[in-house]
Amino acid sequence: MGWNLSRQGAEVVFIDAGRPGEGVTDWSFSWVNASNKTVRRSYFDLNVAGMAAHRELAGVIGPDSWWYPSGHLRWADDPAAETKLLESAELLAAWDYRVEVRTGAEVRRLEPALALPGEVPVLFCPDEAWVHGRHLVGRLLAQAVACGAELRSGTAVRGIGTGTDGSIRTLALSDGSSLDVDIVVNAAGPRASHVAGLVARHLPMRREPGAVTRISCVRVPVGRAMHAPHVEIRPDGEASVVLHSREVDALIDTGEDPAELARLLHDAARRVVPDLGSSRIVRTRVVHRPIPADAFPSVGSVPSVPGYYEAVSHSGITLGPVIGRLLASEILSGHRDELLADFRPERFPS
Ligand SMILES: Cc1cc2nc3c(=O)[nH]c(=O)nc-3n(C[C@H](O)[C@H](O)[C@H](O)COP(=O)(O)OP(=O)(O)OC[C@H]3O[C@@H](n4cnc5c(N)ncnc54)[C@H](O)[C@@H]3O)c2cc1C
Repeated sequence: MGWNLSRQGAEVVFIDAGRPGEGVTDWSFSWVNASNKTVRRSYFDLNVAGMAAHRELAGVIGPDSWWYPSGHLRWADDPAAETKLLESAELLAAWDYRVEVRTGAEVRRLEPALALPGEVPVLFCPDEAWVHGRHLVGRLLAQAVACGAELRSGTAVRGIGTGTDGSIRTLALSDGSSLDVDIVVNAAGPRASHVAGLVARHLPMRREPGAVTRISCVRVPVGRAMHAPHVEIRPDGEASVVLHSREVDALIDTGEDPAELARLLHDAARRVVPDLGSSRIVRTRVVHRPIPADAFPSVGSVPSVPGYYEAVSHSGITLGPVIGRLLASEILSGHRDELLADFRPERFPS
């Protein structure tokens, strides 16, 4: 959003307690999709718009080192899950989403390193992608700074001052300085509820931690993101693969050691891709999803605090470019886009 605003002549200051792109964004499965977002039609539509916004962005800033539009594979290993998968393919096709049901044997021609039965049905969504979030953020920031934006890394927002009419006036920063502002966008990820509290707003968020592991390998044996039965696998550049699993996430709150979570992910991955047996676990992080209480994004202005906006969302990798574009337009012109109608912050009263 800051990239959109600075390109359109707004004076923008990025303030980040850490370093931009190194929060959850760097520890995400980073799958750009709408096939997993069918819980509500408006949410699906927003995610489809997110996919389109990524393609447009790749056309504008160039795709290298962040945009990998290689599609996505998903299959199951029990009959009930398989039936659900095939039903979801029917729904997606009815909603004009490109989805193909292939066999394991056909998929092995695309992904020769996979150990999957030849007859198993596999959903292939050719328009889906994965994104290198840290590289994307770096690219957008560099361009915004070239347009005149300022970046303050390692500086946290500690206070937000308002005028007598309740509108945003100043930010108090952790380095002791303050900044006069007329607009603030709360894009603090898992800390968004805390930042909302600085304007006396209650933004309820869920606690949903996830464990993500990076493994290194001499040659990356997979070419695209995939949901195998017990593990999610995607490439992560030239010599790295990212692993995640909701089943392993469920163990986080049992107090399991992150090293053991990583081992479980690695074991599950090598059952699907035997070549990963020789890979090495490099780093594992347990991170918190920035997920509002009802699981949907909170995006837009908060009328009771003029000048205060939120951009808080799970699926923030898929949705980042579309939220950025719509919110920048709302800030500059006041236009409230219909795509965001179900995801307005007002549904959580202050
Ligand atoms: C395990 C897991 C898997 C996921 N998989 C997917 C997926 O496949 N597809 C998808 O679309 N999404 C996925 N997501 C969600 C997605 O990663 C997030 O929605 C997205 O990265 C959030 O980006 P963000 O910029 O809001 O948060 P972050 O990247 O965390 O950025 C927030 C920034 O705010 C800064 N900050 C915090 N507090 C302050 C403060 N007081 N002052 C100044 N700065 C502050 C932090 O330093 C940080 O840099 C996944 C998330 C997890 C955890």
